[in-house]
Amino acid sequence: MNDTVKYVLDESRIPKHWYNLMADLPSPPPPVLHPGTMQPIGPNDLAPLFPMALIEQEVSTAREIEIPGPVREIYRQWRPSPLYRARRLEKVLQTPAKIYYKYEGVSPAGSHKPNTAVAQAFYNRESGIKKITTETGAGQWGSALAFAGALFGIEIKVFMVRVSYNQKPYRRALMETYGAQCIASPSDQTNSGRAILAQKKDHPGSLGIAISEAVEVAATHDDTKYALGSVLNHVLTHQTVVGQEAMAQLEMAGDDPDVLVGCTGGGSNFAGLVFPFLGAQLRGGKKRRIVAIEPSACPSLTRGKYAYDFGDTAHLTPLVKMHTLGSTFTPPGFHAGGLRYHGMSPLVSHCKQLGLLEARAYRQKEVFDAGVQFARAEGILPAPEANHAVKGAIDEALRCKQEGKSQVILFNLCGHGHFDMQAYMDYFSGKLVDLEYDESELAMALAGLPSVKAA
Ligand SMILES: *Cc1c(COP(=O)(O)O)cnc(C)c1O
Repeated sequence: MNDTVKYVLDESRIPKHWYNLMADLPSPPPPVLHPGTMQPIGPNDLAPLFPMALIEQEVSTAREIEIPGPVREIYRQWRPSPLYRARRLEKVLQTPAKIYYKYEGVSPAGSHKPNTAVAQAFYNRESGIKKITTETGAGQWGSALAFAGALFGIEIKVFMVRVSYNQKPYRRALMETYGAQCIASPSDQTNSGRAILAQKKDHPGSLGIAISEAVEVAATHDDTKYALGSVLNHVLTHQTVVGQEAMAQLEMAGDDPDVLVGCTGGGSNFAGLVFPFLGAQLRGGKKRRIVAIEPSACPSLTRGKYAYDFGDTAHLTPLVKMHTLGSTFTPPGFHAGGLRYHGMSPLVSHCKQLGLLEARAYRQKEVFDAGVQFARAEGILPAPEANHAVKGAIDEALRCKQEGKSQVILFNLCGHGHFDMQAYMDYFSGKLVDLEYDESELAMALAGLPSVKAA
């Protein structure tokens, strides 16, 4: 009897290429627009913020992008990451479904984020850059980039959303341990931050505001570039090591997934898992259900508008077409800080628009119910963001039980929650409540979307 629970690949099986979904899409996503001219931007418009190698990846339509040797060398520390079959969870749920999860919590920073942080730091160092600014929500991205910066000798400055800065002091300490500087956002260090503080002294911050601050610093300093931990095409592409490995591991297991599940903040861990499978489907392979899970308190895919919008609150970034709640929308301070972004990656949004994926939104408490049930069965304590994917997978397994179907479910367990114990403590003491966003604020943020003639 096959009772394997863990599928491991040899280091030699670390992918040699990142997979670029652009090569297989039936139609390309709408162009990125310059905020001043409303015309499609060119590579030079992005040059103040990113090294040229990353800009080229951002617009590339090549199916495979070679992973540089030094990046693969660093990946060897935790890649290939394990794929587990959740046999004990299956038993608890009494489901005929098979549940597999790809575990990205084995990276040094504890999530999928180092997959792109290491690549981005590498290309910045190759172009001679010594300083990078960035934003972080829960602190996962900030600590991943801080780790990568330490490896490549790059100074990292992180603007951390204030509510998370206060909720998650240990993430801040981790960034500082890696040698990065961490600043609560909105801060008084930038025009964007000062403008927000002038309106509201105790503003909880948002990813949109923190992005403005980080972009402003990079745009006004020649020696400084900016890095984003999600949303952009090149970031999603870097994450495809996850899905490529999972494909090989499921082949070892002799299974082919029917349903793929991931949580979506900006879309990168989700895309990293599903894009290689979706690409195979677009090239004529098996059709699978692909399910994105988001928080109901920040529901860009299920409640947002598919429209051109800014990536940040101060409107310093180009305009991208995406599912958005409006760049001025500030979601309530729920614990999955990594999912508090007003928009969704343009590539994931485009796939949703093409009907290639489904989206569902869940509330905070039911998501933690699922995370605790998972931890008690499997032992791994998921990050609050990852609990959304866990909940999605459990619901799919329960649907299989109801329908008497033995489908194969694969989800991305994108990070551990060891730095998120306050959220679990709040959950156990009954302090974790379902937060609703403010409908009138959403209406206002959507009414404020930039008007863009059909591009
Ligand atoms: C950052 C983060 C997310 C959200 O970002 P995506 O780009 O949507 O993946 C989700 N889970 C974890 C663990 C994260 O660190």
